[in-house]
Amino acid sequence: MLIIDSHVHICGPPLNQEHFKVKCRDGSVLTLPFKRADVSVSRLLQDMNENKIDKAFVCAVDGVVTNEYLSKVVREHSSRIVGFAWIDNPLDKTKSVDALERAVNELGLRGLKLHPGFQDFSPADKRIFPLIRKAAELKIPIFIHMAPFPLGTFNNHKPEHIDTLKKNVPDATIIVGHMAWQRFMDLLMLVWASGI
Ligand SMILES: [Zn+2]
Repeated sequence: MLIIDSHVHICGPPLNQEHFKVKCRDGSVLTLPFKRADVSVSRLLQDMNENKIDKAFVCAVDGVVTNEYLSKVVREHSSRIVGFAWIDNPLDKTKSVDALERAVNELGLRGLKLHPGFQDFSPADKRIFPLIRKAAELKIPIFIHMAPFPLGTFNNHKPEHIDTLKKNVPDATIIVGHMAWQRFMDLLMLVWASGI
């Protein structure tokens, strides 16, 4: 049996800081109190070995780890780590589709990470569909963070948005991060409905 952890983060250098900073779409910057050294690749591999995890899906996030750094990591550890790309302008059809193609074809990343909180969009917004269609065409999974964080983005994380997205891009393989938080039971019907 293959055991995969489908939601993992690492930090890129510098690893001597006790925080990382994430830029939000509205221009604000969130400082999150995580020791970067504790989120290094070597620490991840050590944790995977101790807990008998075969593979980890690792997400790039702006301000935390870049697609380029993650590209080096997946090339060095291709049997253990699958990289998910971060796209700066997910609602911009031309830029986002090009950036995803580059991340997959040139950098060797094999998934797309989306964050409706930091990137401030709803997965039901039709402007995101071209990027999702491109991910489906490239046959890569899409990881969508679905916990209501940060403040002011609650409406972006409702599980029914995944229903709308799946209806519009039926071929998409979607991993719902944090299980849509307190309303995760709502997703059971969606899993059932997308199988028929
Ligand atoms: Zn995450």
